[in-house]
Amino acid sequence: MGIEHEQLRKTSTEEGDGSHWLVQFRRLFHEMERRIRLKTLNPYITCKICKGYLIDATTVIECLHTFCKSCLVKHLEDNNTCPTCEIVIHQSHPLQYISYDRTMQDIVYKLVPNLQQNEVRRERDFYKKRGMPYPKTIPNNCIEKETGSQSSSSKVEDSDYHRSDEQVNILLEAQTTALKQMRRKFIRCSAQVTVTHLKKFIAKKVLNNMDKYREVDILCNEEVLGKDHTVKFVCVTRWRFKDPPLKLYYRSRLDLA
Ligand SMILES: [Zn+2]
Ligand SMILES: [Zn+2]
Repeated sequence: MGIEHEQLRKTSTEEGDGSHWLVQFRRLFHEMERRIRLKTLNPYITCKICKGYLIDATTVIECLHTFCKSCLVKHLEDNNTCPTCEIVIHQSHPLQYISYDRTMQDIVYKLVPNLQQNEVRRERDFYKKRGMPYPKTIPNNCIEKETGSQSSSSKVEDSDYHRSDEQVNILLEAQTTALKQMRRKFIRCSAQVTVTHLKKFIAKKVLNNMDKYREVDILCNEEVLGKDHTVKFVCVTRWRFKDPPLKLYYRSRLDLA
């Protein structure tokens, strides 16, 4: 009895609070408060298809409804409508009109502690069980370091080389014979890639020198593209109602001189 009392008093002083039950009550109260907060937010951060928290949140560009990427992609195999509002996303290529929603995914990860770590762990186990290499290049020490709800998702995102970005399919062809055709004309890249990135890519492949990228012009619908445009911008403004891939032509700027 005496020992028990001693322990109780010790715990109480460790907590820096007068009475033990009050500390416990406060903890319980905070936990309840957190759960209630989360509950009121749940409709906004869960996927209507799987009823779970959003994983790889992906938004329909037209109506802005959001689902897990895998849930939405699976749904669009047999449908071309939004599962929530049933708007027709696109008659033949609905997958081109959905977009990874990084902001929403960050919110979900911040509100639901450990969701990200659990998800990464679950994915790793999936590949490990099948003896396959883990496709997302996260440093080995990343998850172990990130304990508790303070973990930021930026580390994981920064290290995935934009693979979780929205992707764009592009066909790159030489417009004139002055520059040779590339052996692989079809590329798939992040929608955040800029025209300058593409010029550097072409300069490296065609001119064998990335530094010569300023000598390359890239055209869409016969119009020279500005160097700072992202391919997302080009798709939306120049290729909106055309079927993928986005067709771009390159030529040497010197051709015209
Ligand atoms: Zn889902
Ligand atoms: Zn919708």
